[in-house]
Amino acid sequence: LVEAINVTKAFHGNEVLKGIDLHVNPGEVVCLLGPSGSGKTTFLRCINQLETINGGRIFVDGELMGYRDQGGQLYRLKDKEIAAQRREIGMVFQRFNLFPHRTALQNVMEAPVHVKRQKAATVRADALALLDRVGLADRANHYPSQLSGGQQQRVAIARALAMQPKLMLFDEPTSALDPELVGEVLLTMRELAEGGMTMIVVTHEIAFARDVADRVVFMDGGVVVEQGPSREIIARPQHERTKSFLRRIL
Ligand code: ATP
Repeated sequence: LVEAINVTKAFHGNEVLKGIDLHVNPGEVVCLLGPSGSGKTTFLRCINQLETINGGRIFVDGELMGYRDQGGQLYRLKDKEIAAQRREIGMVFQRFNLFPHRTALQNVMEAPVHVKRQKAATVRADALALLDRVGLADRANHYPSQLSGGQQQRVAIARALAMQPKLMLFDEPTSALDPELVGEVLLTMRELAEGGMTMIVVTHEIAFARDVADRVVFMDGGVVVEQGPSREIIARPQHERTKSFLRRIL
């Protein structure tokens, strides 16, 4: 479903992605691990077109992201076309960026109503079902300020799912949460994974990576150092940089 080929990205001459290749099959869950500054967040943002890549190509469901290929020559797509591509991808950030003056239900309904222009009654029923799925049916009319961080993050997941994405990207979705709230968000993500969603997850939650991900990809210094089946890599990392990273966080 995702094919990234030799992706490079620099900020002001500082190359933070130095040729990343990544292949993700439909229904696969891939965790990106690696030390701070290794480029994990930047790579996720490139997949979702929140950053423009400097080299390489990213395909999502066979579609070249951000560009049109005409005889090997790449032409940047129009903003509207890029927005349409981005709609197929759900993203959940570290900080729950819900609309503060809208209820949980209104947050989940926002994009289908205003972006997809679907009928409010249908969207409402779907949104309630999604809130139920993330265990928040009884919080539909609460505002973000009346919800815990874990609940807000689950609303953010429901909101992303409301657009029926082909792919979900998670950027350290639990790292801003109080420790006792991490479990409920990871459980929601695990259920989503078990439901067959294709997911790329940047996380430091090694137990989640080991138990839920099909594969882990270890990044350091803007390159993929090592990747493979999650249990194997976490139990028996081959590369010294992976070993020392895992020693530090386990
Ligand atoms: P963390 O776990 O801390 O989020 P990361 O592996 O996700 O780390 P990135 O956030 O992708 O790493 O950052 C990689 C490098 O790119 C860092 O050195 C960072 O300072 C730099 N960087 C990221 N975004 C920008 C930006 N918008 N402008 C300039 N430099 C940036």
